[in-house]
Amino acid sequence: MHQPDIVIIGGGFAGLSAAVALAERGLGVTLLEAKPTLGGRAYSFEDAESGDLVDNGQHVMMGCYHETLDFLDKIGTRDRLIVQRDLEIEVLDGPGRPALLKTAALPGPFHIAAGVMRYKHLSLRERLGVLSAGLRLLHMRRFAPDQLRRMTVAEFMTATAQGEQARRTFWHPLAVATLNEQPELASAALLAQVLKRAFFARRADSAFLYPRVGLSDLYCAAAREFIERHGGQVASHRIVDRLEFTDGLISGIRLRDGTGLRASYVIAAVPPPQLCRLLPDTIARDQFFARIEGLKSSPIICLHVWLDREVTNSAFVGFVGTVTQWLFNKRRIFRRHGARHPGYLSFVISGASELADLPNDELLKMVMSDLRAMVPAARSARLIKALVLKEKHATFAPDPVSDAARPTVKTVVPNLYLAGDWIQTGLPATIESAVIAGRSAAAAIQRRITNS
Ligand SMILES: Cc1cc2nc3c(=O)[nH]c(=O)nc-3n(C[C@H](O)[C@H](O)[C@H](O)COP(=O)(O)OP(=O)(O)OC[C@H]3O[C@@H](n4cnc5c(N)ncnc54)[C@H](O)[C@@H]3O)c2cc1C
Repeated sequence: MHQPDIVIIGGGFAGLSAAVALAERGLGVTLLEAKPTLGGRAYSFEDAESGDLVDNGQHVMMGCYHETLDFLDKIGTRDRLIVQRDLEIEVLDGPGRPALLKTAALPGPFHIAAGVMRYKHLSLRERLGVLSAGLRLLHMRRFAPDQLRRMTVAEFMTATAQGEQARRTFWHPLAVATLNEQPELASAALLAQVLKRAFFARRADSAFLYPRVGLSDLYCAAAREFIERHGGQVASHRIVDRLEFTDGLISGIRLRDGTGLRASYVIAAVPPPQLCRLLPDTIARDQFFARIEGLKSSPIICLHVWLDREVTNSAFVGFVGTVTQWLFNKRRIFRRHGARHPGYLSFVISGASELADLPNDELLKMVMSDLRAMVPAARSARLIKALVLKEKHATFAPDPVSDAARPTVKTVVPNLYLAGDWIQTGLPATIESAVIAGRSAAAAIQRRITNS
């Protein structure tokens, strides 16, 4: 049988998971990645000065990332994740004011209900209020989805009379961490989806998972090896300049270095602005693609800090009421591969539009001040060095308007498919969304080939 030429553009989670799925089915694929290394927005590198591995940003997954876990199983790296048995998060609301959000050893969703009922940052009344708002969110998701899709998280909080403390210590941290946007802008429908998948499902779906290796080591080389072992090709440092069309169908790919490739099917697994640049004007003007140009992005700021000593025993801690939202203790997280310095910490600030243009030293001052306020042991620690990484286009901005503008995997061009965390998967822009989109694009191509 004639093998169609399938080209995948982009070597992030979406492109790699699509390529793995097609290669596994014996279909020849060629994956082209612009950068010298694979990994897209989820990568790590070695810091030359300290010798430590640095993730571009700490990535946390959840037990409900079923497609991602299956992808990691396929490429043989699932055991590079630390997997919590039950969701367990220490949340600090000021120094010496910790509370544990821990799900109980009960079947879902009773596990999360019991967890909320034991969450000490809330009064009994507030805990009951949170549970009732959670149920209301799921009810609206099912019976009033259009109304919910138009609402922001903040509007939903007001509609369900959530008080200041419930917002500060529960809803806002949850929404910002999972949606990467402030509650005043983030879509309530996406929060409902997170709630349904992560908390109103199996007990194990709520648990946190995070790599105990550098992020790139979790999947990049292993995915490449899988694809090549199954007859596919992976080429990095290949910038695709444009898609070439004949009679309304893609016939080839033109690279920036002038070389060309034939293509029977293409999966564009690149973010929205890059996709728009690949299309000829006549195609880009089609309503299907034109609306993509309106998608905005939302930044995440990560600060990596090396102190002269370890200041917390926890692997990670949530901060409430500070600019800094999360502290990750890289020494604990990289426990087997060993962060070389005992005081290697990473801090995350999501939904950071208002901070992204601040100078790095100002951001560092804020984070160090938050750390010293929240963790008394850090007050006497000496800062050895710091690295500030701003991902200005970390994810698309998950406001109701942008969420409605997300396209499907199939496009108006019959042999062009899209993949990426920003495709309409019903989920926020996460690794799981990227993998779902990548695998759906692969499955759609396989169906087309089987039926042709
Ligand atoms: C700091 C940060 C923290 C995050 N934290 C989390 C988290 O905790 N949990 C979570 O689930 N998600 C998190 N995310 C989101 C997650 O990283 C993304 O959802 C995921 O990596 C997106 O993968 P993707 O394949 O869709 O896109 P990308 O990773 O962006 O991949 C697209 C690839 O296409 C390539 N490309 C673009 N144009 C071209 C071209 N013309 N030719 C060839 N190649 C091209 C790019 O170089 C890139 O490698 C975070 C993101 C950031 C930035």
